[in-house]
Amino acid sequence: MEFATKAIHVGNTKDSVTGAIVPPIHFASTYVQEKAGEEGDYDYSRSGNPTRKAFERTIASLEEAYGALAFGSGMAAIHGVLMLLNSGDHIIASSDIYGGTYRLLHKVLARSGISTSLVDARDPSKIEEAIRPETKMLWIESPGNPLFSIIDISSCAKLCKKNGILLTVDGTFATPVLTQPLKLGADFVVHSATKYIGGHSDLLGGVVAVKEKQNYDDLYYVQNATGAVMAPMDCFLASRGLKTLSLRVRAQSASAQNIATFLSTHPLVHKVFYPGLAEHPGHLLAKRQMNGGFGGVLSFEHKLGYEAAKAFVDATKIFQTAVSLGAVESIIEHPASMSHASYDRADRIKHGISDSLVRLSVGCEDIGDLLEDIEQAIEPIHGVSDFKSSRTTEKCSSL
Ligand code: PLP
Repeated sequence: MEFATKAIHVGNTKDSVTGAIVPPIHFASTYVQEKAGEEGDYDYSRSGNPTRKAFERTIASLEEAYGALAFGSGMAAIHGVLMLLNSGDHIIASSDIYGGTYRLLHKVLARSGISTSLVDARDPSKIEEAIRPETKMLWIESPGNPLFSIIDISSCAKLCKKNGILLTVDGTFATPVLTQPLKLGADFVVHSATKYIGGHSDLLGGVVAVKEKQNYDDLYYVQNATGAVMAPMDCFLASRGLKTLSLRVRAQSASAQNIATFLSTHPLVHKVFYPGLAEHPGHLLAKRQMNGGFGGVLSFEHKLGYEAAKAFVDATKIFQTAVSLGAVESIIEHPASMSHASYDRADRIKHGISDSLVRLSVGCEDIGDLLEDIEQAIEPIHGVSDFKSSRTTEKCSSL
């Protein structure tokens, strides 16, 4: 089966009792044993739940994984993987990562004696230089967040294999529609299901797809022991989201490409970060590594700095000011004061996340409406009346 067919049919079999085409949601916390100690497939919902299992099956199939485990949030999924490490271990992480992951690594794991070095993972020699005898994991995001750096997953996987290091890829931005890291040699792929997988801003969840049985068993042990599992209702919504994932992501990528192109010629825009633009340093790699689109999120630096960037964010009308991404609604945010406020400022600036950066998550609205919204928000405020955009003002479909 191809991706779109698996997303609809794997894990979603009709209910054997009623024939319902959509499987029921199992809210039960415990399962009756016919005789004491004789468990069926399920005994207690922290350890396993049929609705969670259905979602995990679909994800494992889409990622071509041995198995998948669903957690209560993306951060719980990330924490689950990191709990496979021990005190004294060392992690190398890409510098262009989600602020919450940065915080978990530097402010929480560091307390347990697990240290992290941030490197520019676009350059494999920088990763190699940072490897120590105690390095156990390389943590990357591609596209990175919020600068959309593209990291060569296959090269990272080869380096990791050579040095006995596990490779984890946070695939939240790319989604399995555009990139399948396990096929490129990664050991774990993590998603915040809150984002594209759910796709409708109405659930919180995370999921880890695992390539090999031993790593899956180890992660299952940690998950069951610590208990941060995804709730049945959220699993149901995430399964429903998966059915339209590839349609949504392809449409959102097409609109993001359109918006990136528009912004890249605007006089008030200093720099656009989007791997679909030919001038993006990772464009050629993204073309090889991403399948049929460059993602629905992009960022840009406002030429007039911090206050202007914030004013632009506040002036959009269709783009809602919020810290999430990947939903049908377009969302706009200011990383320095929102998604990446948990970075130490010095680290943030050092890694290129400037105060004037704005991030846009492009939704499924009409592309003409979105471009008009951006135009009205950026221009009157700063008096750029002489800018005539080259974009077509006609309404056009995002597909
Ligand atoms: N990974 C990435 C790339 C994210 O952007 C986020 C949240 O924004 C997370 C992980 C954390 O996910 P959650 O908010 O579901 O805990």
